[in-house]
Amino acid sequence: MTARPAPARFPESALAARWAAGAPGPLRLEDGRPLRIIFPGTPAGGSGPDFTGAILDAGGDLLRGDVELHLLASGWRDHGHAADEAYAGVVLHVVARNDGPNAFTFHRSGRLIPVLVLEPGSRPAFPPPFTPPCAIATARGQDPSPALERMGLRRLRAKAARVSPAVAAHGPGQALYALLLETLGGSANREPFAALARRLPLALLLETAPLPGVSRTLAFTAALKAAAPPLALRRAGLRPMAAPARRLESAASLIARWWPEGSVPGWPPALGPSTTWMAASVPGIGRSAAIEVAVNAILPVALASGALPEAAIEDAWRALPSPGTYGRLTRLQSWLGGEAAPPFTTASRLQGGLLLHGDYCSRGACGRCPLSSAPLAVSH
Ligand code: SF4
Repeated sequence: MTARPAPARFPESALAARWAAGAPGPLRLEDGRPLRIIFPGTPAGGSGPDFTGAILDAGGDLLRGDVELHLLASGWRDHGHAADEAYAGVVLHVVARNDGPNAFTFHRSGRLIPVLVLEPGSRPAFPPPFTPPCAIATARGQDPSPALERMGLRRLRAKAARVSPAVAAHGPGQALYALLLETLGGSANREPFAALARRLPLALLLETAPLPGVSRTLAFTAALKAAAPPLALRRAGLRPMAAPARRLESAASLIARWWPEGSVPGWPPALGPSTTWMAASVPGIGRSAAIEVAVNAILPVALASGALPEAAIEDAWRALPSPGTYGRLTRLQSWLGGEAAPPFTTASRLQGGLLLHGDYCSRGACGRCPLSSAPLAVSH
């Protein structure tokens, strides 16, 4: 009796994840033909083949149908697929190890199914090495905007959920102040600016009494700068507008506007239901940065605290213009309309794009994301 090979030391889900991500090649079938994945199929779930509706190019032969995965090629026989009608449409058998002598898998219908040996990779590839379903669907006229809007709103709710503990612990004013500073800190100084908000809380800052002839903005600037030195601020390589000192001056100006003299450190009355990104526009904070403040601070805290009606917050969110796109969304943008019909024309859609990229595209989820629909025709 022949000893069975040891099972592979990874789960079948790892193999499925690599296949779903397009399994960057070069790939070669056990019969020697090169294999190109045009579309890996849609994960089926439940009984039947693992992926349905795949489109493959096997050495020039176009294959359309289902794909079945096993860690060992003998899994096909062990699971009784050879005699199962549900597997008659399988056009490719993907295995981590071919533990049999054959280059093909047999089905009772008489079909010979090519076998591909695939080692699970560590990370799915982005961009995928095939035309993704979202690009095919968009090229056929499907408008990605409604899905992007829905995902944008999901991202707003996620931001609100993240800030909820701070709102509950310290109140909406302090939570807004902290997120304002974090946003203005940018990627270079987000952490130190967040630490500054803890070190000099809003209530303490608002108690700063300006000297005669000195504006509140200047007094707040001095207080913020005086509290900042122990923090490891990054200054090198930043644009002059993004330098920490400039950002603190802008923050002080905004704080003086949002919390006029005599205000309590709660939600600023100046930020009402019709608030737009202009509420965050002061010298030193350009249009893009002001939109980022609305996206990352004002609206999430308003939603988490109930400071504004939910419907007004959602309207304000949808009305925000795009602050400009992100480099990591360039490919997605080209698939969802490109320059002819740019998909990220509002901040909400851009946020939807970021969620899509983070939760689906970069995880090899083509075929499972909200913008996937199984292609019926080949598109190159
Ligand atoms: S995960 Fe969806 S949106 Fe992202 S590339 Fe694939 S099909 Fe397109």
